Amino acid sequence: MKIICIGRNYVAHAQELKNEVPTEPVFFLKPDTAILPPGRAFYLPDFSNDIHHEAELVLKICKEGKNIAEEFAHRYYDQISVGLDFTARDIQQRQKEKGLPWEPAKAFDHSSPVGKFIPISSVKDPTTFAFHMTKNGASIQSGTIQEMIFSFDKIISYVSKYITLRKGDLIFTGTPKGVGPVKAGDELVLFLEGEQLLSVKIA
Ligand code: MG
Repeated sequence: MKIICIGRNYVAHAQELKNEVPTEPVFFLKPDTAILPPGRAFYLPDFSNDIHHEAELVLKICKEGKNIAEEFAHRYYDQISVGLDFTARDIQQRQKEKGLPWEPAKAFDHSSPVGKFIPISSVKDPTTFAFHMTKNGASIQSGTIQEMIFSFDKIISYVSKYITLRKGDLIFTGTPKGVGPVKAGDELVLFLEGEQLLSVKIA
């Protein structure tokens, strides 16, 4: 199983980090060791002083595909959830300045907690897939697919030109604006259409 993450998929988030708005999807990979075992706390790693939350919609691939046409892409994912793409922002900034890969900032152990998956067919409003996240009870990030630069189907089609997608692979589809730091003691709770699918304590 592999984890593919899309970067800069919301205009307002690209702007808050002073990045260009992309004309093609930006993606990077995380290994399966980035998954946080369900129910476990996320321990802040000692190599960073600025771990940021990025709340995202996450698709689960349901069959193998390569070079998938956009019009058929919907056949390749059947479940959705919410997840966190934890990012060591200080390390990412250093890597970006030097033109180096992002993996030390993105792919570290437990950097991708993911919630309970639900069938796409059970999502009440497939025109929005409205999701949000609270930190210590206050809503701090929210998004809909209408704000995305690249749709689910465009992402699947684009990534599968380069990498074969397999059943069980996860696709993190990018974060809306509102990213920011977490500290020990924080609790992040993520919702899809108002239903809580993930809760993570920071330690
Ligand atoms: Mg992200």
